[in-house]
Parts: sequence; C-alpha cells; structure tokens
Amino acid sequence: MKAKKVLLTIFTTCILAAGVVLSPFAAGTIAFAETKDTSAQATEQTQDSEKETEQEKEQEVALTPEQQAEKDRKEAQEALQKDPNHVHKFRWIAKMNQSESAEGTMNYMCSECGKIWYYKPIPAYLAFSGETAYKIETAPQGALVKVKTSLFISFNNEVMEALAQRPDVSLYVSFLDQEYKGNRVSFTIPAGQDTMSLVDSNGYVGFLFLGGTYGLKMEVPMEDPLDHEPSGIEVTEGEAVEASEASTENAAEVVADKTNNQ
Ligand SMILES: [Zn+2]
Repeated sequence: MKAKKVLLTIFTTCILAAGVVLSPFAAGTIAFAETKDTSAQATEQTQDSEKETEQEKEQEVALTPEQQAEKDRKEAQEALQKDPNHVHKFRWIAKMNQSESAEGTMNYMCSECGKIWYYKPIPAYLAFSGETAYKIETAPQGALVKVKTSLFISFNNEVMEALAQRPDVSLYVSFLDQEYKGNRVSFTIPAGQDTMSLVDSNGYVGFLFLGGTYGLKMEVPMEDPLDHEPSGIEVTEGEAVEASEASTENAAEVVADKTNNQ
C-alpha cells in the first residue's frame, strides 16, 4: 500500500511538472508577454525620441521676442486662472476674428487672467479698432504697437483716445493704399502726439490722412518681413518712436517712390 502511494505521488508530481514545462500554452503566454513588453518599450522609446525631436525642432525655430512675450503672457494667465486667491476683474474687451473681414467679439472678460464670462459678436471694424485700442492701453512702457491690415483704412476715435492716454506708446500701421488693394504703405505715429485733434467730426481718422501727417512710407513687399505674416496687431516692447525719428524725410521718400513707379 505504502509503495503504491509513493508511486502515485511521484507519478502525479511528474505529470504536474511535465504539464508546466511542456505546456505550449504556458510557454506561449510567457513568450507573448515578453514580446508585448519589448514592443511597448520600443513604442515608448519611439514616442520619446519623437518628443525629443519635436522639442529640438521647437528650439531650432527660435521664438521672436514678441512670440516669447505672448507665450509668457499666456502661461502667466493660465497660472492665474488656477490660482484660488485670484479675484477676476471683468471688463469689456474687443477681439478680432482670425480673418479680419469676419465678425469679431466683444468679450466680458477678466483683463488679468483672460477668463471670458460672456461675449457677443461685433462688426469686424469695431473689433479691429477696439483690439488696437486695447493693445495700446495695455502695452508695456515705451512700446511700439504694430498694426497690419489688408482691409481697413481708418481708426475710430477709440484708438486715438487710447494713444492720448498713453503718451509713451507709438503706433505703426501698415495698410493697402486703395482699401483692400493697391500698394502696401505704412506710417508711424510717434509717442506723445495730440492724436485727439486728428479725429474728424464723425469720430474717425483715415490712414491716408495720418500718413500725410506723419510720413507715409512705401513698403517694399519682398523686403518686408511683416508681409509673410497674416494681418494682426503686435506689440514690441521698448521700441516707441520719438517724434524727431519719424522725420518728414519719410514723406519725401514716398513722393520719390511714387514717381519711380509711374
Ligand atoms: Zn481673472
């Protein structure tokens, strides 16, 4: 009886052992898991290297100071939105559409963190003037605000009021001299001008009139780096133009250019 029991035990053990060792299913599972692990690691590595390449690419395409400032500003706003101690300061702020001919929006938003409470659509021109005025109002000390448009040829008094409130800021405007067509020309309103005196009785000031006052400059399309960028408003810190710099020589240049072109 005892011998039988021992034999049975040995036999059972052998079968179990053989089962574990020989079972193709068990072996397969292990192999599969290994394969899976390896491929997962490989995928991760590929993703990592892709990420690195993307980061390298980002670093290669160096941000302009304006783009960097914009990026910093957005990050600061995001951080502020998450700050539980932040108290919103809501006010109406106009924003242009990406396409300047499309309706813009008037946003009831926090001027500090950018949170929008609600908004309503406004005509494209009001968005253009409104956003320009806001950019002037909030520009850093002594900044040059650059406006490039392929559609509009005037500002409303809101923009001139903003300039009057910020005598340290100058305004560069690049536009087409026949509304949405013609030559690309520009002028710069130096810092500290009596801009309110330029507004007409209807509350507008035309770009050609401003060009006549401050010097209209013909822009050479191929040499104008702005021409590769879409229309928009940008702010350059510490580049405000003094009245003496925006000389009347500019006006003379335009006359000469126009004569050459004819
Ligand atoms: Zn806020």
